[in-house]
Amino acid sequence: MPEPRPPGSLQNLLPYSIFSLVHLDTLHALFPTAKFDEPLRRYTAWKIGGPADILLEPRSVEELIDAARKAREHGLPVTVLGGGTNVLVRDGGIRGLVIRLAKALTNVEVTGNRVVADAGVLYPVLANTTAARGLAGLEFATGIPGTVGGAVFMNAGAYGSETVEVLDWADVFRGGEVDRVPNAQLGLSYRRSVLHEHPDWVVLRAGYTLAPGDPEELKARIKGFRKQRMGGSPNKPSCGSTFKRPPGDFPGRVIEAAGLKGTRVGNVEVSPVHANYFVNLGGGTAEDALELIRLVKTTVRERLGIDLEPEVRVVGEP
Ligand SMILES: Cc1cc2nc3c(=O)[nH]c(=O)nc-3n(C[C@H](O)[C@H](O)[C@H](O)COP(=O)(O)OP(=O)(O)OC[C@H]3O[C@@H](n4cnc5c(N)ncnc54)[C@H](O)[C@@H]3O)c2cc1C
Repeated sequence: MPEPRPPGSLQNLLPYSIFSLVHLDTLHALFPTAKFDEPLRRYTAWKIGGPADILLEPRSVEELIDAARKAREHGLPVTVLGGGTNVLVRDGGIRGLVIRLAKALTNVEVTGNRVVADAGVLYPVLANTTAARGLAGLEFATGIPGTVGGAVFMNAGAYGSETVEVLDWADVFRGGEVDRVPNAQLGLSYRRSVLHEHPDWVVLRAGYTLAPGDPEELKARIKGFRKQRMGGSPNKPSCGSTFKRPPGDFPGRVIEAAGLKGTRVGNVEVSPVHANYFVNLGGGTAEDALELIRLVKTTVRERLGIDLEPEVRVVGEP
């Protein structure tokens, strides 16, 4: 057993196997623009999450690919984050390299009715951009605070529409190469994609085909969706829907029917406004959130015989 390292040091956070392979100076040289030992609660919608050993916000696809290749060469695990709006990062943080794409890769190209958006483009921004160009189909994206990459990973959707309906392809960095993967091969279904089985694949950009529409009508539709949402969701940090819809029902209704609205573990609470939103009241931890998820799941099963499946993705170490 190696000697324990001083608490709080980066060496302490990097697992022995990785740190014995890669010296700290080498890491700084490999990823000169990265942040080290960076608390991820600053980058998640839930405002929860321990530190990333190395956090990189690449300014180009080339920088991203270069960093992912270097990480692989040095045996460092790679985790991708988009906007951090559907992840629960555990309190021990994430080992190795975390690549965060929100606001990093943000180019959008429109040619006729075809749109190519970088993985870091925020979905509400894409909704506004395409509507303003008179292109219909992505208005639903206004309610989804994550990125294009996260939306492909999750097949994000709202107001009866989903990403799968408008997506043509995604450029995916996998096995050291960039492949254009067509919609049909992305395995998109309700809040699922083939990427769930391949956590090392990185969506770089996505192509959409939209329909012609009247910009003013599309903007009005977006405004309507926003208004709808404002009334029905809490304004405290959360990951949006904690659980997926059970067959023929809604998780919010089910959790409320089980008498769990307002239930609290530590500083995370089942929102009294919308029972499928678990809100961080301030200083909540991933352990609080996980315990509340377990409690709600078990109680709903016991009281109503319904099995709820989490929508939120849990990453990192306890
Ligand atoms: C207030 C609120 C409301 C929400 N409403 C909705 C809604 O109406 N509909 C809905 O579908 N969702 C909703 N969500 C959830 C969330 O916004 C979506 O799931 C979104 O698609 C996640 O995108 P992200 O970029 O934040 O992904 P992240 O949370 O950063 O990551 C989610 C998963 O995707 C992976 N990932 C992210 N980017 C990439 C990439 N480029 N390549 C490969 N993998 C990647 C991550 O590794 C992780 O496993 C809501 C969330 C909040 C906080």
